Amino acid sequence: MLQTARKFKLTFDTLTLSKDIKEELPIYFHMGGNRDMGQRNNSKCAKCLRDFHEVQATGDVLAIVERDYQGHSRRHNCACRTCREDRLRGCSAPYLCLEEAIKMLDCLYEKWDPRIEVNQRTPRLTEEWKQKNTNTIEADDPVLFDPSIHLENRVDGFRIFGEACKPTPAHQIEPLEEEEEETIYIGNSHRLDSDGDNLSVGSIWYNQDDKRNMPVTVPRELASPDAGAAAAIL
Ligand SMILES: [Zn+2]
Ligand SMILES: [Zn+2]
Repeated sequence: MLQTARKFKLTFDTLTLSKDIKEELPIYFHMGGNRDMGQRNNSKCAKCLRDFHEVQATGDVLAIVERDYQGHSRRHNCACRTCREDRLRGCSAPYLCLEEAIKMLDCLYEKWDPRIEVNQRTPRLTEEWKQKNTNTIEADDPVLFDPSIHLENRVDGFRIFGEACKPTPAHQIEPLEEEEEETIYIGNSHRLDSDGDNLSVGSIWYNQDDKRNMPVTVPRELASPDAGAAAAIL
């Protein structure tokens, strides 16, 4: 099975991931880690994190970083509550494990880092539209395109013929403000020259003295009676 997966370049990749999926992914040998991640996998603290702090997933590392460290100091015998709890688990230097956890997360590319929320402005279908789409699928009618590029389900992230994961997340641009409708006139001119070859010119006309008004010349090999208008529309 592994050979088949390799043969067909099975990869896990997506444009953006939800925070939940980022947290579910294993932190050791993380596919979205930079070169420094290699050193992190087997460091003394990484082993302590695995053995005594029960770290497996990226979310486990995040949970360690986000705990309450009030009164914390960089000492083996730090008296803060969190470090005391960690020492009871068997960790000899909780402050070093905390620093290691931060370094692990810092090794992740932006797309895979659960501390970074991207594409918060990604347009999404409303629940009402999702329901309408469900009905239209059943009725075999056209459905409204869902512009969301966010991966919500881990299984949907697997691709065949894929490449190694790309470090940069996709950033969707903000939807444009609704613009006023504008009427654009398309012109078409066509004639045959003295050799009988087609000559076609299209034109785009917005308004009197509008700088955007322009002719559109059609290459001779593409010229035909309606080619000028088609070129202007394109
Ligand atoms: Zn502490
Ligand atoms: Zn530890």
